[in-house]
Amino acid sequence: MRKNIVAGNWKMNLNFEEGVSLFSEIVNMVKDEVIGDQEVVVCAPFIHLSTLGKLAATAANVHIGAQNVHQAEAGAYTGEVSAAQVKSVGVNYVILGHSERRAYFGETDALLADKTNAVLKQGLRPIFCIGETKEERESNNFFAVIKTQLEGGVFHLSATEFAEVVLAYEPVWAIGTGLTASPEQAQEVHAFIRETVAAKYGAEIADQTTILYGGSANPSNASTLFAQPDIDGGLIGGASLKSRDFLEIVKVFNK
Ligand code: PEP
Repeated sequence: MRKNIVAGNWKMNLNFEEGVSLFSEIVNMVKDEVIGDQEVVVCAPFIHLSTLGKLAATAANVHIGAQNVHQAEAGAYTGEVSAAQVKSVGVNYVILGHSERRAYFGETDALLADKTNAVLKQGLRPIFCIGETKEERESNNFFAVIKTQLEGGVFHLSATEFAEVVLAYEPVWAIGTGLTASPEQAQEVHAFIRETVAAKYGAEIADQTTILYGGSANPSNASTLFAQPDIDGGLIGGASLKSRDFLEIVKVFNK
């Protein structure tokens, strides 16, 4: 069966000390309270990753992720960080294609395809985000938008490469807004994503693909969202900054 994953995206929040303290709380709570085989991922700012990597090494099902990397392997790219560099401090996952990076940093599908290649080349797993804006939902254009994002960002991969990709459906209108897609709205898109993956890579790979939901998920709505057949976990922004809220979301998968 495909893996259930709950990933936190801290974005540009928390100083170093605050980040280490929150992560330590999460690691301890996971050790004490998580009884399923769900995977927990914390995507922290670059400056935290080295220390969090050492803490994560003590916890079997807690991993760390980066929120971005540069597409080149190394070189004269002042201010950038490579996939090999984040790998060297224990990172296993990298968020790519987050709507904030698409909107504020002009990241295109073509650039994201290059970043996906860079991440996979290091043996890391991309958490590849796709999702429509409010206007695209209101104009009923969202299936086409999502298909284009998949085709442009990850469908150039071989089946073996694609098997390492985690997808995250994040309707842009639900991110950080307190508006959540209803379980039915989210399930409809997740089923469409899985069908689209099946059409490209076959039913077996589609069935194994973890597809996360992201967009104002919290301890109150996570159970109904994660109960949907094609929702395999969450990418959690705001609620991942509070250890208790994050853990309650993780524990939805306790079996
Ligand atoms: C996100 O930024 O990936 C996200 C889902 O944020 P939030 O949970 O705050 O909506």
